[in-house]
Amino acid sequence: MTRPIRADIDLTAIRHNLLVSKNKAPNAKAYAVIKADAYGHGALQVARALEDNADGFALLRLEDALALKEAGIRRPLVLLEGAFDYEELAAMAEHGIAGAFHSPYQLDWLDRLPAGLRVKGWLKINSGMNRLGFRPEVLLDILNRLKAHPALRLSAIMTHFATADDPRGIGRQWPAFAKAAADSGLPVCAANSAALFRYPETHGTFVRPGVCLYGCSPFEGQTGSELGLKPAMTLSADIIAVQNLDSGESVGYGCGFTADKPTRLGVVACGYADGYPRVAPNGTPVTVDGAPSSLVGRVSMDMLTVDLSHLPQAGIGSRVELWGPHVPLETVARHAGTISYELMCAVAPRVPRAWQ
Ligand code: PLP
Repeated sequence: MTRPIRADIDLTAIRHNLLVSKNKAPNAKAYAVIKADAYGHGALQVARALEDNADGFALLRLEDALALKEAGIRRPLVLLEGAFDYEELAAMAEHGIAGAFHSPYQLDWLDRLPAGLRVKGWLKINSGMNRLGFRPEVLLDILNRLKAHPALRLSAIMTHFATADDPRGIGRQWPAFAKAAADSGLPVCAANSAALFRYPETHGTFVRPGVCLYGCSPFEGQTGSELGLKPAMTLSADIIAVQNLDSGESVGYGCGFTADKPTRLGVVACGYADGYPRVAPNGTPVTVDGAPSSLVGRVSMDMLTVDLSHLPQAGIGSRVELWGPHVPLETVARHAGTISYELMCAVAPRVPRAWQ
C-alpha cells in the first residue's frame, strides 16, 4: 500500500483564476508566473493548462524554461532574474528565452555574445525594493548603452513591488518607476497579483500574476475566494491510527497537547517532511471526512494528530483535508505565522500530485 497522502491540483481552477486575473487587466498581456514548479503545482502541467490563455510564462531557472520548450510549450518565456552566468545568456539567446537584466555584470556578457546571437531583455529597475535592478538615476546611461546594442533586443522595462499587498501600497515605488518607464519608451511590466487586483495604474503592457493563479489572495486577512479565485491545491492524507487518551495523557513530541478530558485522536499520514508546517499550533483547522476539526499536538516529521472527539464515525482511512476548498491555505498559513506562498512551495517531492 502506498502512503495515503496526496496533493490534488485542480487545473480548471487555475484556468479560472487566470481568467479572473485577465479580467482585472483587460488591456494587458498576462505572463503567468510559474517559477518554483508553479509554486508547487507542477510547471509543465500548469503551462499546458494555461497555454491557450496566458500570453507568456515567467520562470526563474533556464533549465525549467528549456524543459518547457522541450515539452512543446510555445508561448514566450522570461526568466525573472535573467542569466546566472554567461553560458546561460548564450543559451537564452539561442533558444529565444527572454531574461531580466538587473546588474552591470550581466550587461558585460552581452559584449561577449558571438556575432549574430541576440537575446531578448527586460530591463529591471530598482524602484525601492532594493533587491535587483538598476536605479532610475542611471536609466539614461543604461539605455544609451543598450538600445543600440547588437546583441540585445530590449522588449520591456520592469520593476517589482515590496508592499503592494499591504496598506503601504505602491506610493513609495510607483512614481519613480512610472517616470523611468515613460522616459524609456519601453513596454511596461510591474504588476504582481497584489498590484493587479489593487492598482490598475500599474497594469501597463504586461502583468505578472503568481499567487492568485493558484487561488490564494496576496492580501493579509483576505482569502482567494473573497477575490473570486478558486483554490487550486488540496493537500489531504488519511488517518492511519486512532488513540484514545485519558484525561492527563499527552500526545507527540514535547507532549504538545495534554487532554483535560477523555479525547479521541486521529494520527494522520502527513508531517513536516511532507511540507506541512511544523510550527502550526493546536487549533489549526482541518476537515475530517468533510467535518471541521483541528490539529492537536506537535507536528512531527511524518505524522500529525487531529481531534476526533466530536467525530465518532471518523477512524482509520478517514480523509483529512489539510488545506484546500474547505480549509483555506491562507488560514493555515496565518496559524503557522507564514504566507500561503511558502506553504504551497514547500509541499515535498515525496507527496504524489494528481492533476485534474
Ligand atoms: N514578479 C516577480 C519578479 C516575482 O518575484 C514574483 C513572485 O515572487 C511575481 C512577479 C509574482 O508575485 P505574486 O505571486 O505575488 O503575484
